[in-house]
Amino acid sequence: MNYNIAVIPGDGIGPEVIRETVKVLDRIADKFGHKFSYQELLAGGIAIDQTGKALPEDTLSACKSSDSVLLGAVGGWKWDDLPGDKRPETALLGLRKALELYANIRPALLFEELASACPLKPEIVKDGLDFVVVRELTGGIYFGEKGTKETDMGHAAYDVELYSEKEVQRIAQTAFDMASKRNKKVTSVDKANVLESSRLWRRVVSETAKEYPQIELNNMYVDNAAMQLVRDPKQFDVIVTSNIFGDILSDEASQITGSIGLLPSASLTTGNFGMYEPVHGSAPDLAGRDKANPMAAILSAAMMLRYSFGLLEESDEISSAVRRVLKKGYRTPDLMEPPSEENTDMTNVAPAKKEVGTKEAGDLIAEEICPFILSAGKA
Ligand code: NAD
Repeated sequence: MNYNIAVIPGDGIGPEVIRETVKVLDRIADKFGHKFSYQELLAGGIAIDQTGKALPEDTLSACKSSDSVLLGAVGGWKWDDLPGDKRPETALLGLRKALELYANIRPALLFEELASACPLKPEIVKDGLDFVVVRELTGGIYFGEKGTKETDMGHAAYDVELYSEKEVQRIAQTAFDMASKRNKKVTSVDKANVLESSRLWRRVVSETAKEYPQIELNNMYVDNAAMQLVRDPKQFDVIVTSNIFGDILSDEASQITGSIGLLPSASLTTGNFGMYEPVHGSAPDLAGRDKANPMAAILSAAMMLRYSFGLLEESDEISSAVRRVLKKGYRTPDLMEPPSEENTDMTNVAPAKKEVGTKEAGDLIAEEICPFILSAGKA
């Protein structure tokens, strides 16, 4: 099959991790007989420098006519002094809104091989962790009415949290559909004891649950959810929540899985179209140093194969190649553990850890999928 992928490398480490991701996708194409055509597009700081706009029209129209979008990261120190509405990150909100990407999917997966990188107690995570955060992405307080006004207490500012039934219903359906293919449990997170918008959220999620009798639904207040994520994360299968609560909880979830350099994400709309990107930003501190972990971007491509192209075997092949590379002891710098004081004799640490850079990590994963000689022979 042929697939057209819009590729937005972006800024900082974005181009570095995307380069490795394309390398891995090409090996998948070789091994399984697909053709991936890439159209490289500008967005973020590099687009501001070259076109004056964070999200040029050409980029948006090319994304709309592609089968899916693969994005690195945008932003960086160079553009930090620009006013809010001119910053590189506005490209992300623009893409989400224009492409109607209302469902953000973030798997929180702790590989057994990296259990020691998790800051939680070993007994809490001893068999690894595997849950998914489904965050509503185009509504709520980030897109609601905002402004400033004068009050008796002086100058004031406000942002409105507003959700319609339809917005809640479609994100709830995404979560229930996802749970149907997993462990059949949805936890809906809100603040229904205080917020009117959360009361509507809870009512609509509960009504939608009736269409999915095989799924267990729990409602949880967001403050409790923040605690439960570190106390007992194994209780979760699929968490569904609003834009702002999902922003915070998915970052919390990212920390308990070891490194942000491992976390992929998908932003989906109705149908098969989606935008796939690592959870991390452009990491200007690492840019150009061959130190960024490309696995989050590579695993985002695995999500693309699964959710947009329905290529389940190919998707699993990428995930298991990443796992095999970790199992062999290869680690990018973010995953290296300092020798502990009790055990400075690294010869006792098994398996031996070998530090690799961005490029070598990509090469190793690509080689796991399809050795180069076979790949070159087919080309
Ligand atoms: P960041 O995710 O870029 O970096 C946070 C920390 O994680 C840094 O210490 C960084 O070195 C480390 N890190 C990030 N990705 C890594 C990787 N692949 N491998 C190893 N370590 C990694 O977040 P930040 O520092 O808050 O933001 C930097 C810039 O990125 C800002 O301009 C911000 O607005 C932007 N940003 C963009 C996105 C996006 O494009 N989706 C998301 C978040 C932040």
